[in-house]
Amino acid sequence: MARYTGPVCKLCRREGEKLYLKGARCLSPKCSVERRSYPPGQHGKDAQFRRGRGSDYALQLREKQKARRIYGILERQFRRYFREALNRPGLTGSNLLSILESRLDNVVYRLGWADSRNHARQLVQHGHISVNDRRTNIPSYLVREGDVISVRSGSRNRQYFKEIRAYMDDRPPAPEWLSIDMAAMTGSVMRMPERRDVDISLNEQLIVEYYSR
Ligand code: SF4
Repeated sequence: MARYTGPVCKLCRREGEKLYLKGARCLSPKCSVERRSYPPGQHGKDAQFRRGRGSDYALQLREKQKARRIYGILERQFRRYFREALNRPGLTGSNLLSILESRLDNVVYRLGWADSRNHARQLVQHGHISVNDRRTNIPSYLVREGDVISVRSGSRNRQYFKEIRAYMDDRPPAPEWLSIDMAAMTGSVMRMPERRDVDISLNEQLIVEYYSR
C-alpha cells in the first residue's frame, strides 16, 4: 500500500499543530512546529497572519487532512474507510475513528512497541509482528476483538525489542481496549475501540460533513 514519503514535519506545520509523527523528536525543542510555527512554503510566513477561521469547507478539509496525516493514510484508502464507516451501524464519525484505531500499525504503536505510527508500520512491514501466531506484514490489517498481537519469537531477542522491554515503564500505558503482557511481548484486543478511547483532538463530524457534500 502506498504511503506518503515526503517530509513529515511539514505536515504538522501545515496543520498548525503537533501531529506527533516522529516519536521522541516531537517532544524535544527540535520540533519544527516549535521552531517555525508558520505554514511551510515560500509564503508560509505571510500565511500565518491569514490563519484563522476559514470557510466551512476549509475547516472540514483541514480536519480530514489532519486525520489522514496522523494515521499515515492516503486519500483513496481513507475514503474507503469512510465508506465502510458509513455502512456500519452507529455514528459514522465514531465508526471511522474505530476503524482507524483498529489498524495493525496503530495497535503496535498503542502497545508502545514503536515511537510513532510510521515506525510501527515499518516493524509490521519488516515481519516482526504476528497476529494470532501468524506472521502479518500488512499495516492496514484491521484487528478484531480477541486477536492476539505479538512480537515474533525470532525478533524478541533483537536489541531493539530488548530495549523496549527495559524501558516500557517510561512509555504511556496501553489504552483500555488493549491488554499487554510485556514479558511475553504480546497484546490482546479486549474489545473494539470506541470514540472515548481515541485521545486525539479530532472533530470527526467535520470529516463526515466533508465527505457528505
Ligand atoms: Fe510534527 Fe514531530 Fe516534526 Fe514536531 S517533530 S513537527 S510534532 S513530526
